[in-house]
Amino acid sequence: MAKLHSHKFKGIGASSGISIAKVFKLVEQKIEISDEKVKNIDAEVKLFHDGVKKSVKQIEKIKKLATKLAKDELEILDAHILIATDPVLEDDTINLIKQGYSAAYSLKETAKNHTNFLLETGDEYLMARASDIKDASQRIIKNILNLNILDLSTIDTDIIIVADDLKPSDTAQLNEFVKGFATNIGSKTSHSAIMARSLEIPAILGIGNILEKVENGDIIAMNGDLGQGIINPNEQEISEFKIQKENFEREKAKLKEFLYKKSTSFDGKKVVIAANIGSVEDAFAAKKVNADEIGLFRSEFLYMDKQNWPTEDEQFLSYKTVLENLRPKKVIVRTLDIGGDKTLKYFDFSKEMNPFLGYRAIRLSLDKVEIFKTQLRAIVRASEFGNIAIMFPMIATLDEFFAAKAIFEEVYTEIYAKNPRIAKRENIKIGIMIEIPISAILAEKFAEHVDFFSIGTNDLIQYSFAADRMNEKVAYLYQTLNPGLLKLIKMTIDSAHKKGKWVGMCGEMAGDINAIPLLLGLGLDEFSVSASSVLKVKKLISELNYHQMEQVAKKALEFATEKEVIKYLESVNLIRHN
Ligand code: PEP
Ligand code: MG
Repeated sequence: MAKLHSHKFKGIGASSGISIAKVFKLVEQKIEISDEKVKNIDAEVKLFHDGVKKSVKQIEKIKKLATKLAKDELEILDAHILIATDPVLEDDTINLIKQGYSAAYSLKETAKNHTNFLLETGDEYLMARASDIKDASQRIIKNILNLNILDLSTIDTDIIIVADDLKPSDTAQLNEFVKGFATNIGSKTSHSAIMARSLEIPAILGIGNILEKVENGDIIAMNGDLGQGIINPNEQEISEFKIQKENFEREKAKLKEFLYKKSTSFDGKKVVIAANIGSVEDAFAAKKVNADEIGLFRSEFLYMDKQNWPTEDEQFLSYKTVLENLRPKKVIVRTLDIGGDKTLKYFDFSKEMNPFLGYRAIRLSLDKVEIFKTQLRAIVRASEFGNIAIMFPMIATLDEFFAAKAIFEEVYTEIYAKNPRIAKRENIKIGIMIEIPISAILAEKFAEHVDFFSIGTNDLIQYSFAADRMNEKVAYLYQTLNPGLLKLIKMTIDSAHKKGKWVGMCGEMAGDINAIPLLLGLGLDEFSVSASSVLKVKKLISELNYHQMEQVAKKALEFATEKEVIKYLESVNLIRHN
């Protein structure tokens, strides 16, 4: 029901754009299933069978509606139908019902036994089957209990998603009808923000209580730059948003004049303005804005998008498509950076106290060597089709780098023996992400061994300030202009340059209009930003004088607080408010 009065809200503007659309609440349902005995056994058996039938029908419908589903996604839906109608699962469930348990409880227990058995095998394929059983039985249980089931990929009218938080696995299944996100939790560098920027839709995160304030079907008007929105706007407010939208589109169109301009500062210092991508589609967006190269290909999105570990061939095809389309431009593929907030449907991450400090990224790859090798084989094979570079995420020690590189060399030798047309070994550059403070401090030593650095400020800031990047309550500690952080960046850049290596930045700070003058002055070689920011960054850099910025950066490093740095930047007219 539409509310009578409009209601304003404010949060962190995490992705630009203006949208007006209906609310779609994405709520994770908690399912409580009791083990109390039931009286009418026949009724429970019927409930179970009806639940199965309804689930099969739903899956068939998704298959029909979601025409864009990839082959493996269709296969997985077929697998779900097979599981739902599996006679062993049925027999075991009905046996439990006959002992007096409810249909939902009996299926939950049966599915648990089956999945535990598979998980214990330690076999990758069987473990993935376990996650299919979990998914398929969850659907049947929800149907038995008459709960709503959300299938994001089948949305077919314009909506704005309102949620407590959006998991990367939710965002991976969104389609073109999603016009914006508004969430209780999150900040500029959470992955839902990054995803919104790559989809070029507005996002307002960290609002605190938006989910509780709206109903499905309410209208939201939102401005992702300002981080402001209105629930059920009146006519006048709607026309104001429409005007804002027209202005936004006009500004965007004006940036097109920078498409073929060189990426240089006003006084001619050349830099590289690259794009961050997470999919083949993003690569096309990067091509459209003529990004100089791909500074970060977040390969984990290829994994999150799937129902099972992507095979070597599937990955190879994605990398090959990106490389062929961007050739001769360089594409830096970051090896799997999973863990933290980025989880997989088909892999059981054990519960951790601090997932961002835990089993993720290169730590997982070095532990699950076969998964790592599969990815490296796909990357090395794809090197035949363009200009590829590799970087390892979350490197904390030189030992980790040496271990990862040794595995790469082994894979390279193996593939080269089969296909000498792949890129020459010396043409595949290998770099690391600098996103853990200790590796910035030791950058001088790393620089002797790596080909390049890419500074991941999203994590570097969270680890330097010990402030969770997802938590809006500590967002005040997310200080991009803090002199301490600037020192870590300077250390990294200077150490690399001393050894003749280049340094990029692929964290969100690289697209921050107030940080760019300092980064240019500190000598950053490459700015890697979302495709939607490439032209904006190019325009800004073309207006800055590198030699002046060198002096500005030097001065900024002398201050003690971020506030002082901002005050100083304001005094030299370098702070812009959007
Ligand atoms: C970063 O940490 O800055 C980065 C680019 O990696 P991600 O955001 O994927 O963690
Ligand atoms: Mg990171």
